[in-house]
Amino acid sequence: MLLNVLGCWGPYPAAGAAASGYLLRSGDTKILVDLGHGAFGVLSGLIDFRELDAVFISHYHPDHCADLPALRQAIKGALKDGSRTKGLLPLYVPDQPQPDFERIQICADTFIIHPYSTIRAGKVDVGPVRVEWMPVRHAMPSMALAFQAGGRRLVYTADTAFMEELVDFARGADLLLAEASGLDKDIEFVMDTHMTARQAGELGRRSEVRWLSLTHLFPEYDVNDLKTQAGEAFGREVLTAAEVQVYDLEEDDGRQYDAAF
Ligand SMILES: [Zn+2]
Ligand SMILES: [Zn+2]
Repeated sequence: MLLNVLGCWGPYPAAGAAASGYLLRSGDTKILVDLGHGAFGVLSGLIDFRELDAVFISHYHPDHCADLPALRQAIKGALKDGSRTKGLLPLYVPDQPQPDFERIQICADTFIIHPYSTIRAGKVDVGPVRVEWMPVRHAMPSMALAFQAGGRRLVYTADTAFMEELVDFARGADLLLAEASGLDKDIEFVMDTHMTARQAGELGRRSEVRWLSLTHLFPEYDVNDLKTQAGEAFGREVLTAAEVQVYDLEEDDGRQYDAAF
């Protein structure tokens, strides 16, 4: 599996960058995970959007889905002119809050909309990739997501406060992409809806993941402060999604590649 970070900032993008968005590839299968402000343009610079196989949205905050209307217009055009041969694009979304879910129905001309709650198995296969989810604790319903293929496992916490259940969900992941929205000094402010960098580090340590990468970074923080506090709890070096654009989960040493490969 290959993971491209399209954007890793929240709740708004840093200068010249995008909010949350990730592209996951395994063989020919291409999965989009979240699509916040500016992430669609980055995606289009990497792949032909017509080739997407599925989209997973963790929750309806704009820093995770603001660019969905852009993707809809692009796919709609490609369906119309026949340049997309894969048909309507499967879109996995929460069914709450109700107004957001209702608003997304307008996209039913472009996407096959799958609310997570209607999939009894709690998992779905997209090509060789097994996708699982778990409801997490946030200001609105939000889903942590896990992707497994070729013996590798990637876990994305999405936006969430720390919860014990995440330790099991993330256990043994090759890469844990953990939100780290606060420094220690701001724990009172974030703790009900987000994790601090230190909590992300603790989650990584207790889950015994191979690599920990911090994401959902607040643009006003110094990224090195987030890394330091997370690293103290993790006990090893921590990466940030801002520094690393591409992760190759097939590489045993977790080598990182430049985005322009
Ligand atoms: Zn967010
Ligand atoms: Zn959020």
